[in-house]
Amino acid sequence: MFNAKAYAAASATSRLAHTQIKRRDPTPHDVQIEILFCGICHSDLHMVRNEWSSIMPTVYPIVPGHEIVGRVAKVGPAVTQYKPGDIAAVGCLVDSDGTCPQCKASLEQFCPNLTLTFGSPDKHGTAPVTYGGYSDSIVVDERFVLRIPSNLNLAGAAPLLCAGITTYSPMCRWGITKGKKVGVVGLGGLGHMGVKFARAFGAHVVVFTTSPNKKDDALRLGADEVVVSRNADEMQKHASSFDFILDTISADHDINAYLTLLGRDGNLTLVGAPAKPLAVAAFALIMGRRSLSGSNIGGIAETQEMLDFCGEHNITADVEVIPIQKVNEAYERLVKSDVKYRFSIDMASLKSE
Ligand SMILES: [Zn+2]
Ligand SMILES: [Zn+2]
Repeated sequence: MFNAKAYAAASATSRLAHTQIKRRDPTPHDVQIEILFCGICHSDLHMVRNEWSSIMPTVYPIVPGHEIVGRVAKVGPAVTQYKPGDIAAVGCLVDSDGTCPQCKASLEQFCPNLTLTFGSPDKHGTAPVTYGGYSDSIVVDERFVLRIPSNLNLAGAAPLLCAGITTYSPMCRWGITKGKKVGVVGLGGLGHMGVKFARAFGAHVVVFTTSPNKKDDALRLGADEVVVSRNADEMQKHASSFDFILDTISADHDINAYLTLLGRDGNLTLVGAPAKPLAVAAFALIMGRRSLSGSNIGGIAETQEMLDFCGEHNITADVEVIPIQKVNEAYERLVKSDVKYRFSIDMASLKSE
């Protein structure tokens, strides 16, 4: 084992602070990565504050972070795909059983025995739970390490590992191609990636927002139209016309207002997670054979496919790069949606701790 620098929270009410953690020495199949950037995902904040205690109670101390980009420092003798010096990435998963039907279908994110990048029991026994990317290094099995195309800005590439795959995967599943009409509800970390992907797929993109002042930014990001969702007339103009709507809102909202905008066989996919159950009007689904579904990140192969797609289309997240010392302030701003559109921590800042 070796010592790594990290930022951790000691309890649900503690600030994140500098600490030292143990990382395992690379096993034959492991890649040791020096972390360069780590994106801040809203789920980091939920887990730090134990806000998902009913589903996944947080084990403290917690080292969050699952949007990791870095440089390979060391590899085990059986590693074939990576060598020291390579740029590599790690997303939300670091292991799975590899044998269940989900893993066999390359959908490791649904494996009942998956290991999340932070907060899952550490089967190597280095620590009680896995520690994430708010750290200067991480050691991960080669099968869960990803490649970043060389043309991409690394700070902006980090959020692709969660926000990127979360929005890319459902668009692939629902066959978004040139000529389809796609709606994106909410223009935050997820929404802004949804706009970029829908645009790159050649779709006609409509952004729904509650804030009229986001209009210019939505157009700059690639939207063809922007609808202020509080304006019933504007909404009505789009009735029964969408092939697909990506709903990124994690606050309570009227889902039926969007379902009725879908055309025949249209689909609305939820990627936000409102705490309260949403009330769905059956008629909104029955009429037009519409469907409502959810989606959660993507498997490892699809995540690599997404990164390669981003390389071809030069897609990264719009990020505000911060030193790790500003992470607590960034969390406060995240709660107020005061970021365009994702924080990316420059891990070089951890060296001074
Ligand atoms: Zn995330
Ligand atoms: Zn499995």
